[in-house]
Amino acid sequence: DQLISQIAAGEVVERPASIVKELMENSLDAGAGWIHVTIEHGGLRRIVVADDGNGIARDDLGLAVARHATSKIDSLDALESVASLGFRGEALASIASVSQLTLTSRAVDADRAYAITPATSAEPRPAALDRGTRVEVRELFARIPARRKFLRAPATEFAHIRKAFNQLALSRFDIGFVLHHDGTEVARIAPAHGPDAMQQRVDKLIGGAFGDHAVAVDEQAAGMRLSGWIATPGFSRGQADRQYSYVNHRPIRDKVFNHGVRLAYRDLLHNQRHPAYVLYLTLDARQVDVNAHPAKAEVRFRESRLVHDFVFRSVGRALAAVEA
Ligand code: ADP
Ligand code: MG
Repeated sequence: DQLISQIAAGEVVERPASIVKELMENSLDAGAGWIHVTIEHGGLRRIVVADDGNGIARDDLGLAVARHATSKIDSLDALESVASLGFRGEALASIASVSQLTLTSRAVDADRAYAITPATSAEPRPAALDRGTRVEVRELFARIPARRKFLRAPATEFAHIRKAFNQLALSRFDIGFVLHHDGTEVARIAPAHGPDAMQQRVDKLIGGAFGDHAVAVDEQAAGMRLSGWIATPGFSRGQADRQYSYVNHRPIRDKVFNHGVRLAYRDLLHNQRHPAYVLYLTLDARQVDVNAHPAKAEVRFRESRLVHDFVFRSVGRALAAVEA
């Protein structure tokens, strides 16, 4: 079972950034108002994600770290229209199989917190925590030298973490996010409401004064909506790391979507191939399969041609408005 978990972990836990992503997603699913991420040495030494969400009851701690145990869906039908970021029930188990993981949590109605460290004991023990959940991950891949070897320098791993953090911080404006690396506060973003607040967050996270060069997008057609910001063509020079796309608030990487955007820029970009953008596509949950990949980063659209053309036309219209 340990071996099977480690094999599954290979698909979910590629590097420290994948762990940060999975843990932040869990915090979002738990209804957190704030999420604190603390990283040491690019995540190679320590990753801590703490939230003020619903927490986990003492008797459910063991289940939370068990493979294929999820509290988020209870049927195949529910998977058809899943709204939570998690649904596979394998992240905590996978992470625990390749590291020393400690899960500490206090359920909202509990009078104290409990912790579990699956590597040393399956029994929850009393612990100190005011509210919410705290997951600490140490000794990543320590028992799997072959995997450890594939990790890059801490600075590179941290760059990946930063991207994962940004991606989720841009997925929900009503939630606060804090990121620490080696004792330094790298980012602190307060919960925000209203269009100005959103633009500020986008500017802060993407940097390079993106906000000053961004054009708003907001289009609807055929039950789909595309909103967000795209950079004016002049701003788009070699910014492959400044592309953020979401489907129903889930960060995704999708060829169909990306191609639609790039095609809209086609004649405007000349040899600059990476437009910066933050785009949110919303559509009926049944029109998209989110269970296309273990890391949940890829999706499959039921009508990909329709999505492609809608993205292409919407971005094209926003760009045309700038040109005019
Ligand atoms: P999934 O997110 O797909 O359900 P995970 O392995 O990521 O699977 O988490 C397993 C379970 O642990 C979740 O279904 C949830 O019940 C619980 N859990 C994990 N993290 C948190 C958290 N931060 N707050 C509350 N519950 C959590
Ligand atoms: Mg999860």
